[in-house]
Amino acid sequence: MELKKGQTYSIGIPMTLYYFYYHGLWETFFSELGMQVVVSEVSTAKTLEQASLISEPEHCLPLKMLDAHLAEIVGKVDMVFVPRILSSLKNHISCPKLGALPDAAKAQIAQHSRVLTIDIDENKIPLEKSLLLLGKELGVDKQTIQTAIKRGMAAMQSTRKKLSGCSDKKGKKFLILSHPYNLYDDFFSGPILRKLERMSVAFALAKLDQKNIPSDPIKWDTCSKMYDVLQRLTAEECAGVLQISSFNCGCDSISMQIFQRMLRDKGVPYMTLVLDEHSSQSGIDTRLEAFVDSTRW
Ligand code: SF4
Repeated sequence: MELKKGQTYSIGIPMTLYYFYYHGLWETFFSELGMQVVVSEVSTAKTLEQASLISEPEHCLPLKMLDAHLAEIVGKVDMVFVPRILSSLKNHISCPKLGALPDAAKAQIAQHSRVLTIDIDENKIPLEKSLLLLGKELGVDKQTIQTAIKRGMAAMQSTRKKLSGCSDKKGKKFLILSHPYNLYDDFFSGPILRKLERMSVAFALAKLDQKNIPSDPIKWDTCSKMYDVLQRLTAEECAGVLQISSFNCGCDSISMQIFQRMLRDKGVPYMTLVLDEHSSQSGIDTRLEAFVDSTRW
């Protein structure tokens, strides 16, 4: 299908992975371009079930979820949006799996659909410039694209501000750490946060909105942002760090060891919760209770 100038297309966006990586941006940007935006439903146990049925067993959980969300919207829209994320932070690279997303979508779940894509490499090109190219591909005029970029970026900033919240409880807080697609997706972090609330535990979500991290030992963008947050932590202000990870996450398997050593030297308790298709609320509750109790002893 040739994209025509001035035409309105329906664009499907899966509400997972890069939806939360650039939270708030995509819906505003595409709507401002005059497109009809269709976002998949929030993740549920059914999405997870579908993900394990249709996706490659070796994938990490976020990639499996992407397949399930894509499957929900392909065929209902003119095109699905699947960006190739190469870097979201200067001097860093993204997880290599995110660099293959459009190819994987075209080869499998979205093989009968048009895949709208864009290379996001903030190492080389500012995000705004990539958005300009994306708008041009959709046949939109420059003035409209520039307004869409401005409004999309503003929407992302305000969403990020709202998201980096903390519980109402006073005192030393537990820091909840993860990639944005785990941290800001209620399906993954919600059961953990609600359990902490029921336990009257004070917590805060890690702020991952750094624009620049001068130098650090980790080159993967989101892991590096987490490292930056941990580097500034002290045992006086932090009751413990709880990291949410996904089964089969290569980046986390390396960075978690670095985090563990750093936090042990600082005297900050640290626990990881690895989520997979079989994670149950009771399993999460037991581990959280044990972690919080052990820090109190
Ligand atoms: S960072 Fe980990 S969880 Fe995220 S896409 Fe890569 S392997 Fe999967």
